[in-house]
Amino acid sequence: MPMFPKIPRLAPSPAMHARRSLADLLLTQQPKLRFALAMWLISLCTYLLYSGILLYQVHLGFVRPTPAALCIAGALLANFGFYVAMRSGWSARLGGNQLGLGNAQLATGMVFMWANYAIVGPASGSTLIILASHMVYALFNLSARRVAVLAAVSLAGLALTMWLAHVLDPARYDPDLQIVGWLYACLVIPLIALLAQRVARMNDAIRTQSQKLADALARVQELATRDDLTRLYNRRHMMELMEMQLAQRERSSAPLCIALLDIDHFKRVNDLHGHHTGDEVLRRFAAETSGAMRSSDLVARWGGEEFIVMFPATPMAQAQTALLRLESRLLGANFNDLAADLRITFSAGLIEVRHGEALQACIERADRAMYRAKAAGRNRVDFADSSLLAQALPEPLPAAAPEPA
Ligand code: GH3
Ligand code: MG
Ligand code: MG
Repeated sequence: MPMFPKIPRLAPSPAMHARRSLADLLLTQQPKLRFALAMWLISLCTYLLYSGILLYQVHLGFVRPTPAALCIAGALLANFGFYVAMRSGWSARLGGNQLGLGNAQLATGMVFMWANYAIVGPASGSTLIILASHMVYALFNLSARRVAVLAAVSLAGLALTMWLAHVLDPARYDPDLQIVGWLYACLVIPLIALLAQRVARMNDAIRTQSQKLADALARVQELATRDDLTRLYNRRHMMELMEMQLAQRERSSAPLCIALLDIDHFKRVNDLHGHHTGDEVLRRFAAETSGAMRSSDLVARWGGEEFIVMFPATPMAQAQTALLRLESRLLGANFNDLAADLRITFSAGLIEVRHGEALQACIERADRAMYRAKAAGRNRVDFADSSLLAQALPEPLPAAAPEPA
């Protein structure tokens, strides 16, 4: 009996359902793109508000209807283009991220602001606030260098706009007022840019630190799960993986096999050719073992010169074939660059997991089988515990490397 009664989830009302469907249709369900489109929506709302103020000025008689309509139509058209470019995936394909239209959006905003300045006449000084809002937008999106460029372009563009406005409409754009306004902008914009650069640098530092942290975490994970020498799974992690496979196996009837492999006379490799060569042999043996198995098989270094392979959903006969494949790969492998006439063989114990059998018991059974393979002369696979025993044994493998004198 659950301690608390389960509260049934309310089904969404038709209105809520319709709202969600509309949002999914407009903003998609892909998280990154949805975020980019949501940002676009916010910027569109801002344009609409600016446009509203512009229309109010038309109503007051400050602005002529045609330039105001052109300004609003241009902004809406550009924003419609941005939406199509992002929604269709075109902007992402162009190489940028989903917010890759940032530059174009910033440029549009700036042109909109300059156009506003040039048509609103008496209220032109107030539009400088829009310029400042652009810098604030840059706080969170641009690198320090781009913020500086943006500040310089804003001021240069503003100077040009002021000059043009004065030339075209000298009655409403007094030259002295333009100069004073521009000087104020020269004071405020660099201050905002400076602040933006600090925030951008802080963002960069946070990004770098997060990346370092992610790298360190990946390294810790690697260290916790992989063997340093061979890069195969280590014993501890393999135990966890095998426990999971065993639990899954309990719920299905798919066969599951385990093989314990031990390199023959490995001590001699160390003694005759040095520990360094021994390490390289272990690395190559690990690579050959991984190469001989299917990608769904689990391969781990069990310790020293011992390796373990788990074959999920694999009957004994197929697991045995995989071990024979490893045997022939090792026969074909060239260890001559390490030492002349160096040959590597292994002995293995192969078992099939029985229903209800604990992992430890399986491993002990594979271990016993492996020792029987050693006792029987090495360079062979023992599967004496298996029902396969009744079937024909494979061809005996070639003799082990000759004993050194
Ligand atoms: P057998 O055929 O009976 O398995 O003989 P063996 O010589 O392979 O087995 P033994 O247990 O006598 O020796 C194993 C050797 O493996 C001893 C140990 O120094 C060496 N060894 C274990 N780990 C490493 C390692 O990481 N690098 C190197 N180079 N040698 C290792
Ligand atoms: Mg051993
Ligand atoms: Mg050995």
